[in-house]
Amino acid sequence: MTAVESSTEHEVTDLLQHLIRNACVNDGTPDSGFESRSADVLEQYLGSSGLDTQRFRAREGRDSIVARIEGTDPTAPSLLLMGHTDVVPVNADNWTRDPFGGEVVDVGGHKVVWGRGAVDMLNLTASMAVAVKNLARSGFRPKGTLIYLGVADEENMATYGAEHLLNNERSAIMADAVITESGGVQIPTADGPKLPVTIGEKGSYWCQVIVRGTPGHASQPFRTDNALVTAAEIVRRVADYRPPTMIHETWRDFVTGIFPKEISDPLTDAEALWDFCGALPVGIARQAHACTHTTFAPTIIRGGTKTNVIPDEVSIEIDIRTLPGQNTAEVRKMLEHAIGDLMPMVEILSSDDGESTSSPRDTQLWESLSRVTGRLVGGSSLVPFLMVGATDARFFRRQGSTAYGFGLFSQRMSLEDYSTMFHGNDERVDVESLALSTELWEAVARDYLADSISR
Ligand SMILES: [Zn+2]
Repeated sequence: MTAVESSTEHEVTDLLQHLIRNACVNDGTPDSGFESRSADVLEQYLGSSGLDTQRFRAREGRDSIVARIEGTDPTAPSLLLMGHTDVVPVNADNWTRDPFGGEVVDVGGHKVVWGRGAVDMLNLTASMAVAVKNLARSGFRPKGTLIYLGVADEENMATYGAEHLLNNERSAIMADAVITESGGVQIPTADGPKLPVTIGEKGSYWCQVIVRGTPGHASQPFRTDNALVTAAEIVRRVADYRPPTMIHETWRDFVTGIFPKEISDPLTDAEALWDFCGALPVGIARQAHACTHTTFAPTIIRGGTKTNVIPDEVSIEIDIRTLPGQNTAEVRKMLEHAIGDLMPMVEILSSDDGESTSSPRDTQLWESLSRVTGRLVGGSSLVPFLMVGATDARFFRRQGSTAYGFGLFSQRMSLEDYSTMFHGNDERVDVESLALSTELWEAVARDYLADSISR
């Protein structure tokens, strides 16, 4: 290992430890997160290389930070590397180590950094910053502009982060191409490692179903119109509802790219998929189901006033995730279908309606990632992936940017471990993966933005 590589490894590890220890926990309330602490760390880190940084404060404590290396050619495409600085809450009792300790532990001869955010996504936020600093130190003069954004409030609604910035500071962060979380876990196949690139994500339709009944004395429940009993039946119907199976192009390309025919065939057959999922290990079954169906998850129920009163109003909240190309009317129809003959007793209020977003695959960014990863991971190739959750990429796709989720991990990170660590217990990442991601960002910036001196 060269001196440069080992100093990169040291820097990215150190920066990640700082970000983990800052514990910018976003619990969804406006005063949580306090990402200004990590904006301080990133500002100091990036500023020391002579890079100009800008701070944007959407609300007290909710700071995001931007650093730019201006391109020499205003017509050349620009690239934004975007990492969020907030993390989701933890239950420390279920962790083997302190979730905010940022400990580096030797696991079988390899160094591993532990802590909330180690894979979602402080690892990338840190490695992107180190890459940008390395590029600045090397005198990188790209044709297109390179932008780094350490953004707040991704783990809630982006009200104090990406959405705020796009509405108020657009010129500071808008770019032709955007890379953020997540992807790049090596999936071993007979044709070499496959690296998933998230090119799209499902949409969300969060709604509240208000169930009405008639109040009465609970000592005489016979033939009463009890809203709680009706609501229980609605919850059961929604949970049991079986939406049509839809095989989307991205799912088909992902599955045929990573699985042999005997597995990819049933996973891309709308008739066979449901039963096949029943027999798969639960992790992959949930993923396969979510990538091919509109999903309905009842998550909150509230109602009743007193033990001796028959309740006349109960509200149920349902988290519905939609597939690419689906609109509100279609989703609403499915929900009404699920509720069936109980529809006259309810009112449906929708609180959020964000359609699914995706970027095309025949882009310069895809080609660039493909060239670079081919060099960094021998024999590898990219496969497109549809994410079932939401990321900040959706805001940029809606404004016309090509936005992908990517990163790069060593062979020690399995897809199964990676997916269970998102918002899960014992989140951790090996140092080799951090160094690989840093190398990736540097190489992609040079390839995509075309270094105007060296190329
Ligand atoms: Zn994330």
